[in-house]
Amino acid sequence: MEKKDLDWGSLGFEYRVTDKRYVSNYKDGAWDEGTLTSDDTITLSEDAGVLHYSQAVFEGLKAYTTQDGRTVCFRPDLNAERMVDSAKRLEMPPFPADRFIKAVEEVVKANEAWVPPFGSGASLYVRPVMFATGKVIGVKPADEYQFRIFVTPVGPYFKGGAKPIVVKISDFDRAAPHGTGNIKAGLNYAMSLHPLVIAHDEGFAENIFLDAKTRTKLEETGGANIILIDREGTLVTPKSDSILPSITKRSILYVAQETLGMKVVEREIPISELHEGKFVEGGLCGTAAVISPLGIINDHGKEIKFESGMEKMGPVLQKLYDTLTGMQSGAIEAPAGWIHEIK
Ligand SMILES: *Cc1c(COP(=O)(O)O)cnc(C)c1O
Repeated sequence: MEKKDLDWGSLGFEYRVTDKRYVSNYKDGAWDEGTLTSDDTITLSEDAGVLHYSQAVFEGLKAYTTQDGRTVCFRPDLNAERMVDSAKRLEMPPFPADRFIKAVEEVVKANEAWVPPFGSGASLYVRPVMFATGKVIGVKPADEYQFRIFVTPVGPYFKGGAKPIVVKISDFDRAAPHGTGNIKAGLNYAMSLHPLVIAHDEGFAENIFLDAKTRTKLEETGGANIILIDREGTLVTPKSDSILPSITKRSILYVAQETLGMKVVEREIPISELHEGKFVEGGLCGTAAVISPLGIINDHGKEIKFESGMEKMGPVLQKLYDTLTGMQSGAIEAPAGWIHEIK
C-alpha cells in the first residue's frame, strides 16, 4: 500500500477530504445495507430534523500504525456502545454496534493510504456521525436518519512535548443534572463554544465546568475528562452522571489499577479540595491528546498551581501516559480486545 505523500509530523488537527466514507441511511424503520462512497457532501431537505431540533450525535477514535506495521484502532467497541447510548437518549434509531465496528474497518481499509506510518506521531482520526435527515416541523423525533463515518489524517497532538496548560473555572454550565452531559451529542458542544471563545480571549486553554446544581464540584472540560493525583499517589477522578464517559479515562483507570497497581477512586471532588492543595498533578484526558497536563487552574482570580509545575507532565501522569500509549503502539502488551486490527 503506497501511502499518501504528506508531511505527517506537521499535520494539524484539521479536516481534509480523503478517498472514501461510509454511509448508511435509515428509512421506513430500518438501516439500509450501507456503502462506501467518494461523495463528501450531503444534500438535505431544508426541513431536516438535524437543522431544527439538533438530533445529532457523534464519536471520535483513531486508526494508526503499530510498531510492527499493523493498522489498528483502539477499543472501537466502546465507541460503538457509546453511540448506541447517545442515539437512544435523543430518540434516534441506534446504529447496531457490530455494524459500527465493521463500518470502521471498511472505511479505514478503504483509506489505508491515509493512515500515517508508525513513528510519525500522526494518526487517522475516525469520525462517526449520525443525524436526522427526515422532515419535522412539529416537535418530534424525525423518521429518517443518516449514519456516516469519514476519516481525516491528523498530526501529533503535542509537537515537541506535552506542556502543562492554564485553564479557568467557567461561569457557564456544561450539563444539567439528568440532562445530556453523559452522551456525545453536538448540542453539548454548541453551547460550550461561547464560554470557550471567552476563555481563549482571556488567555486560557480550556474551561473547567463545575456541577450545574451546586457549582462546587469538578465535572470536566468541554471535551475532556479530568484526572488528579493526590499526595498519596492515588488517582482521583470526578464522579457525576453529567460527565461524558471518556474511553481514554476508563482505559487510564484500568491501567492505573490493574497494570500499575495504583489506588483509583471515582468520587465527587469539591473545588475546595484543590484550593487546599490536596492534589499534586492534574490532567485532561481524551482521544486527541490521551493526557494533557494541567499546570494552573484559575478559579476567579485565585490560582490553583499543581506542584508538577509548568515545564512538563508530572511523574505519575507521565507513567500512565507512557503505559497507555505503549499499549496503543504495541510496545507493551494491552489487555485482550483493546487493540482492534484492521485486516
Ligand atoms: C469525547 C469526549 C471526551 C473524551 O472521550 P474519549 O472517549 O476519551 O475520546 C470527554 N468529554 C467530552 C464532553 C467528550 O465529548
